[in-house]
Amino acid sequence: MDTAYHMLINGEITTSKQTFPVINPATLTIIAEAPIATAEQINTAVDSAHDAFATWSSSQKIDFRKSTLLACQKALEHHIDEIGELLTLEQGKPLKAAKSEVTSSLAKIPNILNYDFFSKTLEENEKGKVEMQLIPFGVVTAITPWNYPVYIAISKIVAALWVGNTIVLKPSEYTPLTTLKIGEILKDVLPKGVLNIVSGSGEVGALLVKHPKVRMVSFTGSVPTGKAIAAMCADDLKRVTLELGGNDAAILLEDAPIDKIAEKIFWGAFTNSGQICTAIKRVYVHQSQLEQLAEILNKIAADTIVGDGTDPTTQMGPLNNKMQYDKVLNYYKAAKESGAKIWGGGPVDGPGYFFKPTIVTNLEQGHPLIEEEQFGPILPLISYDDINKAIDKANALNVGLAGSVWSQDENKAYDVAQQMHSGTIWVNTVHDAHQDACFGGVKQSGIGREGGIEGLKSFGEFKMIYKRKIA
Ligand code: NAD
Repeated sequence: MDTAYHMLINGEITTSKQTFPVINPATLTIIAEAPIATAEQINTAVDSAHDAFATWSSSQKIDFRKSTLLACQKALEHHIDEIGELLTLEQGKPLKAAKSEVTSSLAKIPNILNYDFFSKTLEENEKGKVEMQLIPFGVVTAITPWNYPVYIAISKIVAALWVGNTIVLKPSEYTPLTTLKIGEILKDVLPKGVLNIVSGSGEVGALLVKHPKVRMVSFTGSVPTGKAIAAMCADDLKRVTLELGGNDAAILLEDAPIDKIAEKIFWGAFTNSGQICTAIKRVYVHQSQLEQLAEILNKIAADTIVGDGTDPTTQMGPLNNKMQYDKVLNYYKAAKESGAKIWGGGPVDGPGYFFKPTIVTNLEQGHPLIEEEQFGPILPLISYDDINKAIDKANALNVGLAGSVWSQDENKAYDVAQQMHSGTIWVNTVHDAHQDACFGGVKQSGIGREGGIEGLKSFGEFKMIYKRKIA
C-alpha cells in the first residue's frame, strides 16, 4: 500500500502531521492516508501563488505559458496508466472509464491553448488606439468534487494558468489521491508557486475561499456548498464561478423510437453509476410508451455487470462513498414506501457501495426522487399525455444544468429544446461535447461557464486601454 501522497506547496512536496484515510469504495479498505493542510500551510500555498503571479502573468510570457502547459500535458501523458488505476481505486469507476477520463482531459489541452484572446484592438488610426485586454485575477482557488476529479482538476488548472492566474487547488476529501499525484508529477514542470495542491475537507476549502489574497474561486460541487461559497465570496467581492448540481430531464416525444434510443437513454443515466452532474435523472415519456421503455431499460439494467472497477468485465462500479450510498438508498426506500413500481436493481449486499441500476415507475411529480438530485443509479420514468405538461414539469425545478429531447423528427424535438430551461440541451443525443463548447447551468445550477473561450473568459476580467495622441 502506497501511503506516500503529498501536497504541493511553494514548489515543494509537503506532508502534514494530520491525515485522513482514503477508502476504496469497492472493497472498503484504506488505499492511503492523505494529508490535511494546516492553516499555516494554506497561507504558505496562497502566498506562494501570490508571489509567483507577477512573473507568470506577464504578457511577455504568453509563449512561455503555452510551452510550459504543453510540457505539463506531456509529463502527465507518461502517467496515464498510473493515474487511471489510482482513479479506479479511489473513485470506483471501471478502469477503462478512468483511463479515458485522464486521456480526454489531457487531449483537450492543445485546443484550449489555441484560443488567442488576450487582447483585441477595437480601433487603430491617426487618433490612436483602443484596446480591450483580458487580464488574469491573480490567485485562483479551485475546489473540486469526487465524481470526475481528474477531468475537473486538469480543466481548471489549464484554464486558470493559461489566462495567467496562479492557482491553489483543493480536491474532494473522497478522491484526493489522483490530484495529489498530478501535483507531484507537475512539481518540476511548472515554476515554483504557480500550482499548489492542498488536501483536506470543506474546512480547508473554506479557509482558501476566505483568504484575502485569493481573488477568484472556481468551484464545482453541490448547490448547498456553492451557495455557502458565494456567500463567503461576497465579503470582499471575489469573483466566483459555480458549476453546481442539476436534475436533468429527458423528454421523449410521442414518436420517439424507443427500441433505437433505449440504450443511449440507459447509459445517459447510468454511466459512472449515475454520478454525473448531467446524467439523465428523470425521463418524461408518452403514456403509450411507458411500459415498453421500462421493459427495455430494465432488461439492459439486468444485463449490466456491476462490480469492482479493477475487474475488466465491470460496466458499472460502486457509488463513491457512504454519504452518497446512504442518500441513494434513502431515495430508493422513499420510492418503495410511496408505492412506486421498482422494476429490479436496488442495493447489493456489501462490502462495497454497490447499487444496481434501478428503473422506477408510478411516481408523481413532487416526489423527492423526481424533484431532488439523487446523483445515483435510480431512474424514474414519468408518463405524460400532453407534451406541454411534460415541458412544464421538466422546467419546474430550481435547477437547469442540461437535458435532452428525443424524437424521429429532430426539428420537432428542437422546438421543444428551445423551450427547456437549461445550460445545455441535447437533441437525440446525450453527453455530446464539442471541443469549443462552454458548459454551465441556469437557475441554481450555477453561475458562469467553463470550457471553450467563454470558459476561459471566466478566469479573467476585461481591461480597456484608450491610447490617444495629445492634439
Ligand atoms: P460538495 O459540494 O459536497 O463538495 C465539493 C467540494 O467542496 C469538495 O472538495 C468539498 O471538500 C468542498 N467543500 C465542502 N464544503 C465547503 C465549504 N464550506 N467551503 C469550501 N469548500 C467546501 O459536492 P460533491 O458531493 O463533492 O459533488 C457532487 C456534486 O457536484 C453534485 O451536486 C454534482 O451535480 C456536482 N457537480 C457539478 C458539476 C458541474 O460541472 N456542474 C460537475 C461535477 C459535479
